[in-house]
Parts: sequence; structure tokens; C-alpha cells
Amino acid sequence: MKHENRYCTCMAVLVLKPKEDIRIRRGHPWVYDNEIARTLSDPAPGDEVEVQDARGLTVGYAFYNPSSRIRARIYSKQAKHADLSFFLRAFEKARAWRLLCFGEDALTHGMSLRIVFGEADGVPGLVVDAFAGIPLEASASTPALPQANQPEGLWLSAQFLSLGVELRKEHIVAALREVFKPDGIVERSDAPVRALEGLQPSAGVLWGTVPPRILITENNAFYEVDLLGGQKTGWFLDQRANRAAAARYAPGARVLDMFCNQGGFSISAAKAGAAAVLAVDSSREALELLHHNAVRNGVSDRIEIISANAFDYLRELEKMGRRFDLVILDPPAFAKNRAALEGARRGYKELNLRGMRLLERGGILATFSCSHWFDDAMFDSMLLDAAHDCNRTLRLLEQRNQDVDHPIVYGYEESRYLKGRILQVL
Ligand code: SAH
Repeated sequence: MKHENRYCTCMAVLVLKPKEDIRIRRGHPWVYDNEIARTLSDPAPGDEVEVQDARGLTVGYAFYNPSSRIRARIYSKQAKHADLSFFLRAFEKARAWRLLCFGEDALTHGMSLRIVFGEADGVPGLVVDAFAGIPLEASASTPALPQANQPEGLWLSAQFLSLGVELRKEHIVAALREVFKPDGIVERSDAPVRALEGLQPSAGVLWGTVPPRILITENNAFYEVDLLGGQKTGWFLDQRANRAAAARYAPGARVLDMFCNQGGFSISAAKAGAAAVLAVDSSREALELLHHNAVRNGVSDRIEIISANAFDYLRELEKMGRRFDLVILDPPAFAKNRAALEGARRGYKELNLRGMRLLERGGILATFSCSHWFDDAMFDSMLLDAAHDCNRTLRLLEQRNQDVDHPIVYGYEESRYLKGRILQVL
């Protein structure tokens, strides 16, 4: 890192082509390779660089990565150096946002939260989830119903998804420890996007001790999460409010939870009084945790768990003549880039069409897309096409996004990634 080099305190400069600063000044923190007119001096991969507009005015300070199409990621418009004090300030601000959203005692009273959401929190490429709960030994075969869930510890699960944060891991761990006082930190940098930054996957305990599983509380339900073995950071915190929203339509309902993972929607619906829940996912590991979670919440008698491919199983259900009152569709991102949009649209449409067909007239569809490329307009037009094909009418009950610990920043549209619609299907 340049600033640590005693012989040279200068910072390399990326000069943008004319007008390329506009989008960045309006809040988008990425500089693409084709937007750069010239590079002054020779920054090393991961170095801090100053980004200037075509007139030589400073636009911001960024992490440089010559191996990525995103050549520079802006971390600040004012602070020159991403040193320990920078990360301390960034995490204090990130913490303040969560307390604003969820109350002063959110982190001390056992809420599990996304505490750093990359660029949306001013730390490009760093994602950190904090899990508050009770440590568990691995796979207790007959989990007990907890009497009360007094959190006994706080563990962090971090993804380092840019070269800039990868090279500053030590400062980041020190600052996370100082601001959030966790008992342990795991790294889950095993996401495919790391390859676009020229980085290998990496996972394991970064600091402290981390139990095999943690029992967390969400919307008054209990969930076992596996920080090292679960998908992504171990638990999908972004759906917290949507699980509660969908559960409002669950009392007395026959519910289908497609792409159920560890059962966030299923258990919320069962606890809200669903008559029966059918939970489907292709991941056996996730379904094993779902089973534990169903037992822990005292609802295992009303949740049937099926391991299957969603597309095949939706067809099966139709053949079997099954009908539902509430269908939840929460697939993984089908569009990982612009080129995949057309295929993604077909996938989303097929799912939603089949989901609608399984609903009684007047039933409720809670449907999601977590791909930012597939935007709100595309999502709504796909839903309308699906409804038209099965001769149904959709009435919008709720338009939803990810929960607010994953902030949406205007100008940085990648942060507006999770879209949800709760619809009545007539
Ligand atoms: N609804 C979940 C999150 C879903 S994430 C929650 O509330 O936490 C997407 C899920 O889809 C993952 O659990 C993954 O295992 C599953 N999945 C991916 N492709 C699938 C397929 N073709 N059929 C069934 N499940 C699939």
C-alpha cells in the first residue's frame, strides 16, 4: 500500500475521460476500465489512487485493481487513506445506521444484522453479517425447544469481495473488533464474484473462536445457523422483514415455500398459524437445518420437507392436483450479469406461472428476485406476462425490498437488488 511506503508518499492518479465523472459524482462508486483517459505514475494492485475528472478536479479516492473491469472502487470523496482510522469511522457510521433503523439496543438485545453492506456503507467489497445468539455443538440430533434465547455471544461472518479490502484484512478485523466487540469472526470469501477481482476463494476462522452452530432469534422464531458451512454468510438476513410480511397471510393457509433454504419463510408461516407448509429446496444441508429449526420452534408437525429441483417439483405438484392458499417463491439470482437477462426472464416467468397455477383463486403469491440486473420494471412485466398466460389477474398488496440493514443508496443501483411483490392472484 503506497501510504505505508516511506520513500514515496505520493498517490497515483486516474484521470477520467470527459463526462465520466458525472455518474460517479451522482453516487456510483465504480470506475470502469474504459472510462479512464490515463493513469499517472504506476499504482500497484490494491493501491489507493486519486480519481480526477478530465479537468483535474478530485472526484474521490479509490482502491485500484488492474485485473478487474471495475478498475477502481471509490471508498471516499474526502478521506485520502483507507487506514485503520478510516475503517473505524466507516464501521461506526455503519453501526449508527443499524441503530437508527432498529433502535439503540438492536445489537445488544440479540438481533442478527448485516452490519456492513459493501459500497452502500462506503467500504467497497466488504460484507459483514453479525449473528447474536447461543453457541451450539454440531448437529445435536434432537434439538430442544429453547425456553428463552438470551444471546450469549456475537459472531461475525465476513466476505472480502474486492482486492482493496482483501489486502487490508488486518485493519478491517481490528476495526470490526473495536466497534462491534464480537467473540469470533469467520471469513466466507468463497463467493464466485471474487474471481472477477482475480482472487481465490478463501474461508475459515479469521479471529477468535466460532462455534459449529449458533442459535439466533428472528421475528420471535429460533434458527440454527452454520457460519462456516451454510450458504453465503450462513443465513439470509435480507428477507427478515419479508418473512414477517408473508406470514401475515398465513393463518389457516396451505403454504408452499419454494427455495425454502433453512426455513425462514416456512417457520414464520407455521408460527403464524398456517394449516400446513410444504418446504422445497435442492440443498440437503439447508433442509437438515430446516428440520432442526422446525423442531426447535415446535412446528415440525405442520412442515413437510422435500428435497427437489424447484422446476421439476412445481410440475409434479400440478400433476398431483395440489392447491395452495399462499405460495412463496424466493429463487437464487438467475441473472448474474446483463447478458443473462433474457434467460433469467424465462426462468422467472416459468416459476411464477407455475406458482400462480397452483394457487386457489384469490390466493396469495409472495414472489422475489434478488438479481439487481432484473429491475422492478422487468419484474412487473414478467409477472404480468405470467398472469396473462394462465388467465389470472394480479392485485398488488405489497411492494417490497431487502430489509434496511442492507441500505439502498440512490445513484448506486446495484444496492437495490432484492425485489418482492405480495400479490393476490384472482
Ligand atoms: N427463502 C430462503 C432463501 C432462498 S436462497 C430464506 O428465506 O432464507 C435460494 C435457495 O434456492 C437456496 O437455498 C438454494 O439451495 C435453492 N436452490 C437453488 N436452485 C434450486 C433449484 N433449482 N431447485 C430448488 N432449490 C434451489
